[in-house]
Amino acid sequence: MECTESDCGNTAAVRLHVPWADDRVVCAAHARVLGRRDGVVADPIEDGDDWP
Ligand SMILES: [Zn+2]
Repeated sequence: MECTESDCGNTAAVRLHVPWADDRVVCAAHARVLGRRDGVVADPIEDGDDWP
């Protein structure tokens, strides 16, 4: 599974639950940025390749 952010081909590692939009899966780097917004919940994807 790949990060859903445009222009990003990294492997998705986190599922973001976004109150004002659909859930999305993103890489660890994008999760760090997007996960800071109020109300967003970041859920590690258990079978993600890159999650420690
Ligand atoms: Zn990304």
